[in-house]
Amino acid sequence: MSDKSYVLNVGVDRLSMKQAVQRAENIIRGLEPAGIVVTANAEMVMLAQKDADFAAIMRNAALVVPDGAGVVWAAKYLGMPLTERVAGYDLTQQLLARAAASGYRVFFLGAGPDVANQAKAAAESRYPGINVVGTQDGFFTSQEEGPLIRRIAELKPDILFVALGVPRQEKWLTRHFSELTTPLCIGVGGTFDVMAGRVKRAPVWMQRAGLEWLFRLLCQPERLFRMAALPKFVLHVLRSK
Ligand code: UDP
Repeated sequence: MSDKSYVLNVGVDRLSMKQAVQRAENIIRGLEPAGIVVTANAEMVMLAQKDADFAAIMRNAALVVPDGAGVVWAAKYLGMPLTERVAGYDLTQQLLARAAASGYRVFFLGAGPDVANQAKAAAESRYPGINVVGTQDGFFTSQEEGPLIRRIAELKPDILFVALGVPRQEKWLTRHFSELTTPLCIGVGGTFDVMAGRVKRAPVWMQRAGLEWLFRLLCQPERLFRMAALPKFVLHVLRSK
């Protein structure tokens, strides 16, 4: 089991990308209990402050990886540095590469009509031999939900990638986890949009400078309202020391 760093009472696993992938594979192989992987950013840590259900989801997650530069900064500032940033997009790519190499079955759930299929096509060209056993867009109705869960359970993926946005993806996975019977479930936000080529990822220099949030804001100005959580997060962290 890994150590955790605590940022505003939210535990984040202190792991390198390599170790995160190893833990994920342990879960797939049944060497560790099945569970949900949460990719934590500042917005999610702030949400956990006021949403007790979401805080519990983060507490009970099989893995909480530091997706956001803000979380990495805060842990260091608070004297509990994390190993490195483990971005959800990058973790997804690593897991897809492992899936292709080891024959793990994967399912893509979420994002707009056709995006999950385009992400599947992208995965198939990037990771030859990968077995994407099914896809479903993220705009299903409540009547479609039961059949969808049964379909996923029957297809028996080893990894279920869910892109329904935060916190819906984590709450949906938690609510249906026992029926899904998938050992490893992970909320991946905008990952399918990037894989499908609909949304660009920040250039590497911006990722390294901890400015991916700024890039996303410039590309999707409608995110401004959500990003109001960022300065609040910084203030809370500064005060919590
Ligand atoms: N989404 C969805 N169903 C919904 C709402 C959103 O499938 O009802 C998808 C949306 O198309 C996008 C993803 O969820 O692909 C959320 O992406 P975002 O970049 O907002 O991720 P976050 O910042 O929440 O991790």
